[in-house]
Amino acid sequence: MIYLDNNATTPLDPRVVEVMRRCLTETFGNPSSSHRVGQQAAAAVETARTQLAEAVGARGEEIIFASGGTEADNLALRGLAAANLDKNHLIISAVEHPAVADTARALEQAGMRVTRVRVDRLGRLDLNQLAEAIDEQTVLVSVMLANNETGVIFPVAEVGEICRRKGVPLHVDAVQALGKVAIDLASWPVELMSFSAHKLHGPKGAGALYVRSGIGLQAQQLGGHQEQDRRGGTENVAGIAGLGEAARLAHQHADQVPAIARLRDRLEQTIIRQVPCAQVIGDPQNRLPNTSNIAFAGLRSDVLLMALSEMGICASGGSACHSGSLEPSSVLLAMGLEPGPARGAVRFSLSRFTTEQETDEVLERLPVIVDRLLAQSGE
Ligand code: PLP
Repeated sequence: MIYLDNNATTPLDPRVVEVMRRCLTETFGNPSSSHRVGQQAAAAVETARTQLAEAVGARGEEIIFASGGTEADNLALRGLAAANLDKNHLIISAVEHPAVADTARALEQAGMRVTRVRVDRLGRLDLNQLAEAIDEQTVLVSVMLANNETGVIFPVAEVGEICRRKGVPLHVDAVQALGKVAIDLASWPVELMSFSAHKLHGPKGAGALYVRSGIGLQAQQLGGHQEQDRRGGTENVAGIAGLGEAARLAHQHADQVPAIARLRDRLEQTIIRQVPCAQVIGDPQNRLPNTSNIAFAGLRSDVLLMALSEMGICASGGSACHSGSLEPSSVLLAMGLEPGPARGAVRFSLSRFTTEQETDEVLERLPVIVDRLLAQSGE
């Protein structure tokens, strides 16, 4: 099996599994308990807090652990809106993950005005539109650091400067970026940032929201005094410890990122040379090192993905299949792609565990599969 779907989720690093195993079997206490077993669990949570904070240039008390990227995004948007009821305007990009896009839509239905900043054909954010959209009613700007489908990286430091000049906080969904792009919250003008463990060889169901000291945020999950009253509920100690260890390892292995990029580039360039109907989607200058989104003209991604899967290759479509009809990805449509090519988009996403032998095998099999499918479809 060749796994090139690491933007969907990643295999766990064995060292993360070991840290989690210890939490599940030995450090099993409730971190709120004052006895020794509880305090050991509390210490595991605090170790993870320090590990994540160090990996992103934050301070420990600025990290709120949550159940994943989706909850972190919800908490950022809803928590900021609830803490600033005198303001009613939210700005997001047109290509946000549903965790942000759908939360913004729900806030819109509750009376919030939402501006969706457009992107160009390469997926680059229109910074002029963003700057012009900010007004005195704007409660928050929320843009992703890296797009999950195309890997396109937004210039969040620049966005942050614009926001700071206008006195508006910036939330950044960095779920796809952590571990692939250097993040330094100590120097970046960013007030809130979302993370998720399972995108960097950690477990599913664990994530965090960074909230810069001094930013008011209303808790959305009530019930206990955990996370300084900002997120109630007994902590997922093993998941949190897994997130901390995964962040530490990603930081430690940052020097492997250029090798991932080289592998991705070779895969992509060879596909483009060998498969005439293939075209790369997204800004080639500012992209995650591990992601390649390729549109295969004349093919449907679900058919190609199924054929790849039968050959043991796991990749993903830029599109979601809704009750049999293939909806083109809203991200690709927002970039101005026609529905036809958008329906043929396939995302290959690598990790530090991807080997050259694996990408070589993909390069051997893919052109044959594409030729066969094109012949079958009469193209
Ligand atoms: N934000 C982005 C950009 C993502 O890619 C994802 C997951 O795919 C999420 C948020 C949601 O994270 P989680 O799966 O941890 O809820």
